[in-house]
Amino acid sequence: MSRQTAIDLAYLFAAITFVLALKGLSSPKRARQGTIVGAVGMAVAVVATFFHQENGQGLRNLGLMVGAMVLGIVIAVPMSRFMKMTSMPQLIAIFNGVGGGAAALVSITEFLHQDVKTLPTYVVLEVVLGVLIGAMSFSGSAIAYAKLQELMTGRPITYPGQQIMNGIIFFGALGIVVALLIAPTNLLLWILLVVALIVGVSFVLPIGGADVPVLISLLNSFTGLAVAASGFTLDSNVLIVAGTLVGASGILLTKLMSQAMGRSLPNIMFSAFGSATPSAASGGADDRPVRSGTPEDIAVMLAYARKVIIVPGYGLAVAQAQHTVNELAELLQSKGIEVFYAIHPVAGRMPGHMNVLLAEANVPYSELKEMDEANPEMSTADVVLVVGANDTVNPAAKTSPGSPIYGMPIINADEARQIVFLKRSMRPGFAGIENELLYDPKTILLFGDAKDSLGKLVTAVKQS
Ligand code: NDP
Repeated sequence: MSRQTAIDLAYLFAAITFVLALKGLSSPKRARQGTIVGAVGMAVAVVATFFHQENGQGLRNLGLMVGAMVLGIVIAVPMSRFMKMTSMPQLIAIFNGVGGGAAALVSITEFLHQDVKTLPTYVVLEVVLGVLIGAMSFSGSAIAYAKLQELMTGRPITYPGQQIMNGIIFFGALGIVVALLIAPTNLLLWILLVVALIVGVSFVLPIGGADVPVLISLLNSFTGLAVAASGFTLDSNVLIVAGTLVGASGILLTKLMSQAMGRSLPNIMFSAFGSATPSAASGGADDRPVRSGTPEDIAVMLAYARKVIIVPGYGLAVAQAQHTVNELAELLQSKGIEVFYAIHPVAGRMPGHMNVLLAEANVPYSELKEMDEANPEMSTADVVLVVGANDTVNPAAKTSPGSPIYGMPIINADEARQIVFLKRSMRPGFAGIENELLYDPKTILLFGDAKDSLGKLVTAVKQS
């Protein structure tokens, strides 16, 4: 077998592992396994690349390549190990950004090494797409990271005439692309790089912090496309396959997330959702009375129930209450009560947020029910315990056509016999809108940090 055939076979093996990795990632049970399979495939592809030869010559600049890899490992391994689970979206943002940036740099380097006058148009197109999409993804991800890490405001940043300005920048970039295709020059490529970086920034600024995970998923798919473009430039099949897989899965995830929020992608990208929080500032616009209870009142309700459904939300993640909620669930189960978790697809601030948190607390997968599976059971629950969730149980999504979340599928907590909310105040959730369910006569509120409240409930149930 020739050296090149062996390398191609290694790339084929890697491509197969990438597909298997994606398959594994589609279920929480096999996600870990999927990640390992993908990582092994990637390692094989990287090692195989070192054996590459051109005109009988091996790779040059080996020292630089190894040095860059060591630097990457030294930065990325501790970062991934020590990053908190709640900071996962920003970790993905930063890793995605460097992927896009790397793809753009590869395309630029290839361009600068060639005689641009004689380059076929399709090669220029590959380079231009790599630079445009990769640089946009780099600067967009950097802003997304800054928003999520709270290095800048998480609120949408808007100014009058923003849409027109963004339109001008975007079409300006397209104009440079066309000019490059007609008469490619190095200078034009550098200008394209700068404009693409500006497009990335201006695209992300008007998007609110909680919508940023959807954006990251979209930027992720852009990075995939940029990598595929650089794969064409370098004639690398493995880069083309890997980039296309990332591009396609990123688009699918973006679509699924938009659907789960009942909003269109243009609404998420261009409506500056979350810039106005009508009742957030006042801590609740409504003066209607609500029924609040003590941990002891609620412990009695829980201890005498036959079926309790827990609905976790963003507040559970903020309070880091996953272990305490599991302790409560196990305690109730030890009393013969049926307990499971109803997981909304966009509960929290990133896809799978709740599954990841609860898995960290060793909650069995069999107790995590997806929204469609859980909803038919809501009316048979004696108590629904809503822990730091709000929008994802707000009945306005079903009943108020004017509401910003109208049409978003929700967990039907309103159908249960009794509803308990654990939250700190009457403040609304991410969408910034009132939740009628808080005023429902069947609802009882336990105010306080979710972890504290759950701890008190554990003590009170033990004593009841
Ligand atoms: P929400 O943002 O609707 O509500 C969270 C609730 O948690 C708030 O009402 C808040 O009330 C409460 N809370 C915050 N901190 C604590 C704490 N320490 N202890 C107790 N309660 C706390 O969350 P949901 O999960 O219901 O909904 C998710 C929202 O995020 C949806 O609007 C969704 O569209 C959006 N989103 C989700 C994405 C995803 O992929 N998962 C991506 C983008 C957006 P209080 O301040 O009174 O405590």
